[in-house]
Amino acid sequence: MYGSRLTRLNWFKMTNIHDCPKTINGKVCPCADKLRRLYLTKPRDNQSELRIQRNIEIGEKEYGKCYNK
Ligand SMILES: [Zn+2]
Repeated sequence: MYGSRLTRLNWFKMTNIHDCPKTINGKVCPCADKLRRLYLTKPRDNQSELRIQRNIEIGEKEYGKCYNK
């Protein structure tokens, strides 16, 4: 099924996220955690699945920008 395949792919990506090397006020930058949470978001219907994928794409860009800075 499309949904579960996507979920497994997101799970795989989620486990491969490294913590951001930056710290904010002595704490690890939350961008990695934010993206992990996006990957674990469960869609309830096709429309919300698309929306989640959009949010993931945005989160990936933000994480990439933050991580590589
Ligand atoms: Zn970061």
